[in-house]
Amino acid sequence: MTYPPVWLPMSSKQGRPACVVTRSAWNMALTPGNRLAEAIAARRRVCAYLEVRFERLTVGEQVHGDDIVRVTEPMAGRGRYHREDRIAGVDGLVTTLPDAPLMVLGADCCLVAVFDRAGRGIGVVHAGWRGTAKSITAKLVSRVAALAGCAVTDLQAVVSPCARACCYEVGQDVVDAFEDAGVARTAFLRRDNTWYLDVQQANIEQLIAAGVPENAIESAGVCTICSDGYHSYRRTGNTARQHALVAAIRHVQV
Ligand SMILES: [Zn+2]
Repeated sequence: MTYPPVWLPMSSKQGRPACVVTRSAWNMALTPGNRLAEAIAARRRVCAYLEVRFERLTVGEQVHGDDIVRVTEPMAGRGRYHREDRIAGVDGLVTTLPDAPLMVLGADCCLVAVFDRAGRGIGVVHAGWRGTAKSITAKLVSRVAALAGCAVTDLQAVVSPCARACCYEVGQDVVDAFEDAGVARTAFLRRDNTWYLDVQQANIEQLIAAGVPENAIESAGVCTICSDGYHSYRRTGNTARQHALVAAIRHVQV
């Protein structure tokens, strides 16, 4: 089956905040051994698609933590060409800068974007089970509301495809990590003596608990492990190829 190269949420089709999730037709990761020129070309294409500048595309290191950094003018553009240049030690990026697209990468992990309707503030996180257990998405909501100077109820969110409970088998250690962190375990499912985790549901629950209205959350619904439309480490065993969520505050002529 062939898919269009990107999924463009409804909320991105007009106005200042823009967000897109790439599919498996493109690899977005600058992993050694990958054809790097192709990944850079794909990054350029996504920025062109959103009508924002590739030269300001900003990427974090992604260490399965919960640190979120505010991208300021001197940081814009870091990590777009070289892994060594990524913003170290962070799994989340927020900004009020127009035309400075923020990117997170994944291949089963959940990628989340949060923005206010007026496009004053925007943020993205990479949330695997570790980041989810650390409530990184709940933290993103309060960071973006503070930056945008709005109520959390004025925020919108986009949740990428990721590993879901139909396929994502996890160990007792994952259940225990949620338990120890005091995070709700409602996204776990028990089947045939095995735990399964719906990473998408867990992050949607965090958004709602943090105050984002349910009808302002867009999710593709798809599980990366059983759909071939997105990259999946669990399905293919390949850690090198990743899809991306890119979000930006566009310059809009008014
Ligand atoms: Zn599945």
